[in-house]
Amino acid sequence: MSADNIVILTGAGISAESGLGTFRDEGGLWAQHRIEDVATPEGFAANPQLVHDFYNARRAQSLEATPNAAHVALARLEAEHKGRVSIVTQNVDGLHEAAGSKAVMHMHGALDGALCAACDHRWSAPLVMQPADLCPNCGQPTTRPDIVWFGEMPYQMDQIWQHLRDADLFVAIGTSGNVYPAAAFVQDADRYGAHTVELNLEASATISDFAEARFGKASEIVPAWVDEVLGG
Ligand SMILES: [Zn+2]
Repeated sequence: MSADNIVILTGAGISAESGLGTFRDEGGLWAQHRIEDVATPEGFAANPQLVHDFYNARRAQSLEATPNAAHVALARLEAEHKGRVSIVTQNVDGLHEAAGSKAVMHMHGALDGALCAACDHRWSAPLVMQPADLCPNCGQPTTRPDIVWFGEMPYQMDQIWQHLRDADLFVAIGTSGNVYPAAAFVQDADRYGAHTVELNLEASATISDFAEARFGKASEIVPAWVDEVLGG
């Protein structure tokens, strides 16, 4: 398989085998909360302590998690593929970076980031964030996790669309196909001429938009796919 520019979209499914759950899982952190309460600007305004506690717990959990074979395989692809490999992730964990990937765009933010709601200053989040924390730039107690919540604009969209336009191969791994705009990336990439592949535990909501699909555990099908790309 020859593909100079490879764009990879990753979702919660790639981190599930590293022990990080999502709001669609039963049990776990998300199950104890309503999405509206912990993943919207309105929820944060209503109860910042609850929201900080929730992300503090997710941050602690993600720091204990380790990359699995799928993350490792994608880092190897970036290191060994002769063309460009870019990862667009919906995940807020740092497992791609922990595995060694360099070109990672966190469209939904990251747990290790802090953001000032007043002045937009960004810095590294401490392990535990509190509503009373002061922004190091403007001094206001308006710090929040640097996470894109429901109803907010994802990050780096111009850059992501540019990558999709330039893509020869677009691969979505472990995504539900339910969250936009990421769910439409396959159509964007296809329109600009990329071959499209879904790698997933089960078919996503947008499976019919993909030219090719493989199903199984990410830790098995992603390394196998990477071997094919590097060997072809
Ligand atoms: Zn500030």
